[in-house]
Amino acid sequence: MRRLVGIVLVVLAACGGSEADPDPSRATTSTTASTTSTTLVAASGECGLEGSYPEPWPERPRYQAELDVDPDAGTVRGELAVVFTPPESTDRLVFRLWANGPRSGAAGGRMEIVEATVDGAATTGTYESGNAGPGTPGTIYVLTREGGFDGGIAVDVRLSFELDMPGPINERIAKVGSSLRLGSILPTLSWIRGAGWHTSPAVENFSESVASEVADYDVRVRAPESFTVLATGEEVEPGRFQAWAVRDWAATVGRLDVVEGSAQGGRTRVIVGVAEGSGDDPDRRLADTVAALDDFLARYGPYPATVLSVGVTSSLSGGIEFPEHLMVGAGSSRDHLIHEVAHMWFYSLVGNDQYADPWLDEGLTEYAESRFLANTASVRAKSVPGYGQGRLGEGHDYWAANTDAFFRSVYVQGTQALAAFGDEVGGLDAVDCGLRRYVLDSAYSVAEPADLVEALEAQTGVDPTPVFERFGAL
Ligand SMILES: [Zn+2]
Repeated sequence: MRRLVGIVLVVLAACGGSEADPDPSRATTSTTASTTSTTLVAASGECGLEGSYPEPWPERPRYQAELDVDPDAGTVRGELAVVFTPPESTDRLVFRLWANGPRSGAAGGRMEIVEATVDGAATTGTYESGNAGPGTPGTIYVLTREGGFDGGIAVDVRLSFELDMPGPINERIAKVGSSLRLGSILPTLSWIRGAGWHTSPAVENFSESVASEVADYDVRVRAPESFTVLATGEEVEPGRFQAWAVRDWAATVGRLDVVEGSAQGGRTRVIVGVAEGSGDDPDRRLADTVAALDDFLARYGPYPATVLSVGVTSSLSGGIEFPEHLMVGAGSSRDHLIHEVAHMWFYSLVGNDQYADPWLDEGLTEYAESRFLANTASVRAKSVPGYGQGRLGEGHDYWAANTDAFFRSVYVQGTQALAAFGDEVGGLDAVDCGLRRYVLDSAYSVAEPADLVEALEAQTGVDPTPVFERFGAL
């Protein structure tokens, strides 16, 4: 995510900085999301790397959903079915309802689960706050049953939900005129392999606190005929989107001017939709998206998806990343779009716990953005607030007390830490190769700082720990 945070950043940008800164699914019992293989050779002559991305978690959840979207009323009714095989026995199933976060709730957003079944048996879940917004039942929804859920045994859960959209807020879920931003609106299981259920609170600032493993999605979206739907996944028939091994799902629904192109030598289709009347330029957005995808392909390896869509809507100060779908504010700086494209490697392909280790996705993404913009040196020259100096590795529990410090302390300081490591290994090209190795080794997983350290050291022969400790990353 990237937000333009006020006048200071505008001034810096002007100085040459880059601060841009249904009911159908119920009738079926199994999900049938696309099984398109995306195994890619991620070799790179320059980095001396060979190999393919690891296979995604074979037992990943399979979601199937039907959404009825009413843009005038600002409501979404949904039916969701998921088949999940817990890797180990557990006494509960935990779904995250990010639509009930503090910013959404404060603007009238509210999601409720109105019906639930587990293996065909009707049940009633319980909510936990997880820093829920006012008027909402909670960001955490828990299902239990007698005897719990055995490891290795698939469980079939069906949820019916109703979502009242918040108004035109600067957020992933918002109704802005006739456009709807539907980011992270599906109830999603929060199981992380090796860690269990992720129940970190939602955050107040323009940021994420999510951790999620990859899953397959097959989502049908019904909207009035004059509306365009852009969403995570390949549109296999009108309004039906299938995505393979992605860690979240999002859509933009609106009256959109749509243009298409391709990137990565023709293997990735790029679709840009700009809200009518927003004043933004779809062709320019398309060109920038393609250029960024191709640049990051060369640096960090292939973006494995065959599609990337970009929804450009108003009342969004920067951009927000989702797997295979980006949201960008109309009229926002090009740098935001570049930043969100870089997240397709650092967050979408290699995931992380965005509550505990926000620097892993935001620091690396900001660094990648600076490489595209060729302004890493100017990012290094920026000041970091005292609250954040040497605190790069802090989680949102720390930043919540000073959200103004978050951008400089995590995004900018993260870039500075990687650049400082570059000083030890002969320059930034070597850092890029180290990040390429991190992507190659950790694709489709939820990575930890130790994975980054290991990849950088394996690639460069230099242990980054002393540099990272200087910035407080470890
Ligand atoms: Zn970001």
